[in-house]
Parts: sequence; C-alpha cells; structure tokens
Amino acid sequence: MSRGDADVGVLEDQHIARADRLGPARIEPREGEQVAVRRRLAVLDVVDADDRVEQVAQPGDREHVIDLLVQRSRCDCDRHAGRHGADERGCLRTDRRLLGDEFLVAVYLRPQQPAGAGRVRRLIVVGKRALDDLRVREAGETVVVVSRIEGDAVTGEDLAEEPVEDRLVIGDRAVEVEDHRSRRHLTREYGPSAVTNTDSFPDRARCVVIGGGVGGASVLHHLHKLGWTDSVLVEQHNLTEGTTWHSAGFVGQLRSTISQTRMIMYSSELYAELAAAGHDPGWRPVGGMRVATTPERVQELQRAASTARTYGLELELESPEEAKARLPLLETSDVLASAWMPGDGYLDPELLVRALLADLDDAVFTCTRVTGIEVAGGRVSGVVTDRGTIETEVVVNAAGAAAGVVGALAGVPIPIVPMRHQYVVTEPLDPPLDEIPTVRDPDHIVYARPENGALLVGGYAREPNAYDDAAPLSEPRQLFGEDAARFAESWEAAQHRFPSIRGIGLAKVVNGPEAFTPDGEFLLGETSLPGLWIAAGFCVHGLAGAGGVGKSTAEWIACGQPELDMSGMDIRRFGPQFASRSYARTRALDSYSRYYDVVYPHEEREAGRPLRKSPAWGRLDALGTAWGEKAGWERPNWVGANAAAGDESLRPRGWAGRFWSPAIAAECIATRDAACLFDQSSFSKIDVRGPGALAALQWLCANDIDKPDGSLIYTQLCNACGGIEADLTVTRISGHHFRVTTGTALGVRDRQWMLRNMPDRTGLAIDDRTGAEACFCLWGPEARTILQPLTDTDLSTDAFPFLTSQQLLVGAVPVRAQRVTFVGELGWELYCPAEYGHTLWDLLWEAGAPSGLVAGGYRAIDSMRLEKGYRVWGTDLDPNTTPYEAGLGFAVRLGKEGGFLGREALEAQKEAGVDTRLRCLVLDDPLAIVLGNEPVRSGDDLIGRVTSGGPGYRVGASIAVAKVAAGVEPGDRVEVGMFGEWATATVAQEPLYDPHGELTRA
Ligand SMILES: Cc1cc2nc3c(=O)[nH]c(=O)nc-3n(C[C@H](O)[C@H](O)[C@H](O)COP(=O)(O)OP(=O)(O)OC[C@H]3O[C@@H](n4cnc5c(N)ncnc54)[C@H](O)[C@@H]3O)c2cc1C
Repeated sequence: MSRGDADVGVLEDQHIARADRLGPARIEPREGEQVAVRRRLAVLDVVDADDRVEQVAQPGDREHVIDLLVQRSRCDCDRHAGRHGADERGCLRTDRRLLGDEFLVAVYLRPQQPAGAGRVRRLIVVGKRALDDLRVREAGETVVVVSRIEGDAVTGEDLAEEPVEDRLVIGDRAVEVEDHRSRRHLTREYGPSAVTNTDSFPDRARCVVIGGGVGGASVLHHLHKLGWTDSVLVEQHNLTEGTTWHSAGFVGQLRSTISQTRMIMYSSELYAELAAAGHDPGWRPVGGMRVATTPERVQELQRAASTARTYGLELELESPEEAKARLPLLETSDVLASAWMPGDGYLDPELLVRALLADLDDAVFTCTRVTGIEVAGGRVSGVVTDRGTIETEVVVNAAGAAAGVVGALAGVPIPIVPMRHQYVVTEPLDPPLDEIPTVRDPDHIVYARPENGALLVGGYAREPNAYDDAAPLSEPRQLFGEDAARFAESWEAAQHRFPSIRGIGLAKVVNGPEAFTPDGEFLLGETSLPGLWIAAGFCVHGLAGAGGVGKSTAEWIACGQPELDMSGMDIRRFGPQFASRSYARTRALDSYSRYYDVVYPHEEREAGRPLRKSPAWGRLDALGTAWGEKAGWERPNWVGANAAAGDESLRPRGWAGRFWSPAIAAECIATRDAACLFDQSSFSKIDVRGPGALAALQWLCANDIDKPDGSLIYTQLCNACGGIEADLTVTRISGHHFRVTTGTALGVRDRQWMLRNMPDRTGLAIDDRTGAEACFCLWGPEARTILQPLTDTDLSTDAFPFLTSQQLLVGAVPVRAQRVTFVGELGWELYCPAEYGHTLWDLLWEAGAPSGLVAGGYRAIDSMRLEKGYRVWGTDLDPNTTPYEAGLGFAVRLGKEGGFLGREALEAQKEAGVDTRLRCLVLDDPLAIVLGNEPVRSGDDLIGRVTSGGPGYRVGASIAVAKVAAGVEPGDRVEVGMFGEWATATVAQEPLYDPHGELTRA
C-alpha cells in the first residue's frame, strides 16, 4: 500500500486548513477505513501489522515502539484505575520519543477501566513536523498508530490486533499481553524518559521540583549538576504538556536587563553544549536580527550595542543594506538599522526538555499531580501528590501558568497571570524557506523564524488576552482557538517584512497559555514561606531563559548565592498588593501590551494607579505634582508649581530630556538656598524589638549598631560573600527597640533577608510600619529656622547632633525626628502616625512660607544624592558588589565583637584589595546625561560600566557613578559610550558637593 496516496479517503484541503486553524477537530476513522490527508497533516491510515514494521522505522525499532506503547498503557492503568470512576474522563497522556533521526512517538491514553485494564484512546507514531497537527485530532475509540511521514504526509495504522501487556481494552475488545521489556531498556535506547517512573516512588527527596516544563527540567538539571542528586521532579501530565510543548522555540538573547540577557547568553551556550554532547535540543544557531524603523528604535539599538560591550554579548549594528545582504528576502525599504546577534537561534522545546533531563529519568515522575504542600515549623516539609507524599525541605514551584495555584497549596500568593499568546505557521513557501536568521521587528510587534520550509510568525497583541481560569494547565496540551483580530497587526506586518508570504495560507495557528508577571520580568527566588522557591513567569522567554533560570535557581538554592544579580527577577520585589489577582492582572496586561515599546528612562506606567497615597497627596497634587509610582505608592517626581522658577535651557539632551521638568533644577536650588519639603512617606519602615534585637541586628549589619539610644547608623547587610543585600539606616530608638528604614520598593526584600538570616528570632517582634507612619523630609539651610518655632525641643547641633534621632512634638503632632539627609543639607526626616500626616504637612508648609520653602520630588533628591556620592541599592549596589568596592568601607566594622554575616569575605577582600571600584565621573558636556549601563573606556580599553547618573544642579555638572577597574583614579580621563558616540569625562573625587560635610552638620 502506498503511503499518502491522494486517492485513499482524502480529506479536502480546505477542510484540513479549517481544522488546522480552528484547533481541535474531530476525524473519526472507523476500523477498516482508510483516511489519508495530504500536505502536512495527519494520515490516519489503517493497515495490517506486518506492514507497520517497515513503516515505523528500522526493523529493530519496532519492538521498542510496541514496548513503549505497552509501558505507557500499563502505567496509566495501574495508577489511575480505581481512582477514576468509569464515568469520569480519566487522564489523557502523551509521550514523545525519538526513533532514529526521523520519528517521534506520541501516546495518548485514557484509562477508564478497573485495575489492570485500561482503554487506549489513541496511540500514534508520527514525524516530528506533523506531531502538533495530530495532537488536536480525536481518533475516537479506535486505536491508531500513525507510523510514518512521507513527504508531507503522515500515515498510521490500527493496533487492535497487537499484543499488549496485561489486560487492556483496546477499542471494545480485551486483549492479552504477551511481551514486556523494562523501561530502563527503553531509556538506554532513547535517552531520558518521559515515561512515568513506576518502579518506585520516593518518600523523601532533598528538593522536589513541581512542573515538568522547561523551567522545572532546567532547575532539576542544574541541581543535579551541583551535586543535589537526590532531587526529583514531579509533573501532573507528561513532560512539557503545560506550555512548553507548543513554544515557538526562539532563543533571543537581548533583554531589558543585563542579568536576564546574561542568563540567556548562558542558555545559548548550554544548548550548544547539549547538542555537542549528543543531546541535541534541536538547536539551530542561525543568529538573530532586530530591525529598527524609527529613529527612537535606532537609538535603542545603539544603546543596546554600547551596553552589550560591557558584558560580552555579540551584537553588531548593521545598515539596511547590510541587513538586506544578510537576508535578501527581508523587506528593508523602511528599515533604518538592524542589530545582528550571532548567538541567537531557535530550538525544539520538547527536545530541549529531553536533553536537560538526559540520564535523570530515575528522578522524574510524570503523571504525578501535586495536591498539597506540607508546612512544619514555619517552613516547607513535604509535597503531597496523588501517588504519595515526599518529605522534603526544599520545593521549587515551576508550575508555569499554574504556579499561582501551586503556591496557594501552601498559602503563598504568587503573582502569576496566565495569558494567551499566539503564533502562526504558514504553508511551506515555494521554494521552501531555507534556514534564515530569526527576525524581530518590534516597531510592528512581530517576530519570525523558519519552520520546515515555512515561516513561523509570532506577535505581541496590543490588546492582550488574559487566560482567566481557576485551574490553568489542569488538562494537558491546552490550546485556545484562533484569535485573528488580536493577531491581525502582527500578521500584516509579517507580510510586509516578508513579501514572499503574501497570499500564502496558514498551516497552523497556535494560541497557548503562558505565565506572565505584573512587570514582565521572570519570577524567581525563595517565597515568603521558607523552603518554597519559585521559577516561573517567563513571559514568552522560557525557552530562551531556561538555561540561565535553572543555573541561577540551583546556585541560589544549593550555594545560597547566584552568580548573577537576581534582584530584578526576585519575587521579593512584589509587595502584598500583588496578592490581588485583579491588581496583578491589570499590571500584567499593561506589561504585555507594552512589551515591544521603546522604554524611556523615567517613563511612568499608569495601570493600577493610584493605589497607595500619602497623607500629603492632596496638598502636593494641588501644586501640580508629576506623580511617579513605586511599589504601589504615588510619589512626587517633581512639583509643577516650581517649573516657573526653573531654567528650560538645562533640559538634558536626548532621551534624558524626555521626562524632565525645569522644576527639578529649581527644587535642587531651593534646597541649597532655602529649604525644600519632600514627602518620603513611602520609605519602608521595619521595627525590630525584643531582648535579642541587638544581637540579631549586629549579626546582620556590617556596621556597629551597638550605639546609645537615639543613634542613627548607616549600614549594609551583606551576604556570606560580602555582597550588599541591603543598604539602610538603623535607628536605636531605645534599648531593645530598633527602627530599620529602607527604600520604598525594598521593604519586602529586606525584611525577608533579615528574617532568614537572623541567627535567633526567639522573642523578637519584626513589624512593617511603612503605611502606619508618614515621613516628610525638611532639608535646606532654613530647615532649623522653619522647624524650631514649631517645637519645644532644642534643635541646635549640640542638643540634636547629626545622625541622631529624638521623639518630639511639632505643634500637637507626635514626631520622631531623625537628623539625617540624602541630599547633603541640614535637616530632619520627620515621622508621625499617618493620621497626623496631613496636619504635620500643613504646619511645616505654613511655617516655611516666609523662608521660601518649596515642595520637592524624587528627581531632585536623586540629583542631589549624586552630588553627595550617596549610593542607591539596585543600581549602584547589589549582592555582587561589596562595601569596599562601593567606597563604603567606612561603614564596615570588621573588628566588631561577635563578627557579622559576610565578615570573613570582607576581611579577605580588604587584605587582597578590590578589583573594581565605584567612581564618580563628571562628563565634559553638562547636558549629556547618562541613563545607566553605558560602557566606560580608557583609550581603547573597556574599563567599566555606568551604574547610575544624572544632572547635578548645585554643582552644574553631568554626573555618572561607574563601576570601573580598581586602578582608575580621580583625575583620570575616560570616555562614556552614549548612543554610539563616546563622551569625554573625568574621574572625580567624591563628594562633589560639600566635601567635608559642613552643611549637614551645621
Ligand atoms: C504561543 C507561545 C509561543 C512561545 N514561544 C516562545 C519562544 O519562541 N521562545 C521562548 O523562549 N519562549 C516562548 N514561549 C514561552 C515558553 O514556552 C514558556 O515560557 C515556557 O515553556 C514555560 O515553561 P514552564 O516550565 O514555566 O511552564 P510549563 O511548560 O507550563 O510547565 C509547567 C508544568 O507544571 C505542571 N504542573 C502544574 N500544576 C501542577 C501540579 N499541581 N502538579 C504537578 N505538575 C503541575 C504543568 O502540567 C506543566 O507541565 C512561548 C509561549 C507561548 C504560549
């Protein structure tokens, strides 16, 4: 019998095309009936068993195929029989397996019978290309094996007469089993098993990874690599059957943050290594192009190209002509520039998972649903599954779009928002499309790559579609119907960019679930429940990110510290408001819709606002405040009423001037010359009380906080390597009562760090007081003149020195006043219970009017802190930067009694000397303002990277903080890479403003 014969029960092409587009369709061949489908779709073809031997693969392979089918049948039946009643749907399972170079096996089972028996729903062996098409078809109760692809056709056969193990019901008949091989044999033949390990089920593991998608597979791979070999993975379906199986497989390295880009660079290397080691994940290192069609996009690429130099990403900017030469079928008439990234590529998601789990089949338990997470003594103690409970202290929630549901099993909110995401595959081109680079055209929200002679086209919808389901991924291989309206813009753009696809039909539309986060960045790290980790929320970059995600997560778990800075992906960046599904959803939809937008520094997002308001909000709003948002707080960026006093000629050039106001400079000058009132109510405030508070904080802080009551201590909290985990102030309010004050967005993170790293928390109360207290900062030479008449407390320096704190009354308002500054002027931070906040603001405002008091915003604060050389955690400081590298050695007390976390590492570094240092650069052009991450060079040598910067209006300079090689000294001339140009700068002695601190101590 010839395979793929057009004259054997051919389904009409248009029928196929429709079925293909609409997703699940029903084709019900009856026994003895032949159905053939041409082109790329399934031929469900009933043939006799002998014929099948040749059709499936090489003769030796046949046995394995049958063996596999038998194994799968038995395993499902054994486990699920007795749990599913006859009227329940049972479980649909799939598996895929490489046969030779050409074939994969997919097995679909639906056991519904009592123990020892099961009904085989469908068994298929298909060519890889057609696998997804076949997936969506139902074969009724007839057992069908699709055995071969010929050209574009797939053929199959009935297995009804085949011997199978145990008693199985195939179709309507029971059959006896004659033969059975061990799964280990299969495993050796075909690599890692996607087959449920039924030989044993562990009752204990060092770590349990929940989720057999690419995220979980990579975490398990890397845990085993780090020696955590008694870690296991559990998956409710078969491997990849959540989101991973249908992924488009792009691996594009360039991301919005350096850490994420470096993670994906690692992924690319890993995928190539896996291929070289004989576990090819279908890796196609074809390179990637990103085209720009607007001047802003060109600038974005120029910026990316500059930054890429600092961390070794290969990225070249090319002209439209060069882009055309690289990819002649690309329409480039409207292209202004293109970035070429040779390390990009694409792969096969299922093969990637298989490659990651090579040799780990004993640790993989598929068809195992997690139904509970046990907690004991305040931390994870076990994972409950439908096959038993595994005792463990470490769990990684890698459940993709279902990560929120899995988190809820432990009562931990996980801000994951399942979304729908689409791509299409065209009919094969004529001539078939060769291997070409992947292409991204972000201005037109479209990306594309070759797919077996056709073009695969994906896009980010401007109006995204959340996947609101109480139990996402509970069925395997879920897909949604085509959403042509949402895809129209991307499809149109693809036809413009690739003229050769115009008029061509679509062979496939894939609209699948994907896990998004509220800010579009990955969700990693340990959750609020000790021992419960998260590795999910990959926002359509799970394949690209998986290598790096697995490596970083495993390092974090096994070594306590990942190599890269994870702060932008750390779950601790999200506060309690993200437990609200509607809030998280609103933010995630916004992030998705803006995914391909050019992101300008200081641009504010509007979604989900306003949420948290200070008591002074109304007063500031009446002054025309430009509001920014951080951690849900509305915070003044600048106050519009001050703009008239500003100077428009100070507007920075280029991007830095986009979101700017002359008010910023006016507020800085007012702070220098008179006084400015800043609303910093959003400061995170954490109280630590109890007899052990001093000892606990002494262990955490690099500085000595055993100071008299009322002292205020600036300190870093370091990790074991000496890296800075937090940068904050500690106030000793009295005896055993300490107040920790840290950044708006850092409260959750810093509190968790303290809790996890305190040697003994017995008897300690650790309370977040952030919302309970307002904070207004009155800074400037007139500060004392304004405040003194409002209080009986003596504010003179003798009575109230710098870096001290006192409880006092301002009018009738109880206030904790802290004499400290982030702007380098005389002044106080004034904290009061939130209900007094409005009154306190009014008192200060009225008292300040005669002295020229103005209200100011965060942009002015940032400008002035740069002039003072104050660092910011998250840009200048991170867990991979030590106080010595940051120039903060003055706040480290190595000799402190009892030591502190990170002391040994810091001691060693102090002795050996540092390799890098944070330095202040002053650019020659005061209107050339850095945005962060720019490269710094000396001559032809790359010597570092900018961490932050901005204009300094009191000193009239453009300032940059840069991490540079240790030998770079004040006075050295350097250059800073900005938008493809090099701007000259001088390394300066810090601080630029009030170098001896006379103003702050006045
Ligand atoms: C249409 C589309 C195209 C995409 N294209 C790309 C691309 O080109 N490049 C790219 O990098 N990324 C792409 N992605 C994203 C990528 O596919 C995902 O980020 C990635 O596959 C997610 O992997 P995961 O392991 O987090 O989730 P999943 O693959 O969904 O794995 C999670 C697993 O957890 C299991 N699970 C859930 N609950 C339980 C439970 N209670 N017990 C046991 N197991 C459970 C699920 O069954 C599932 O198998 C695309 C996504 C979509 C939707």
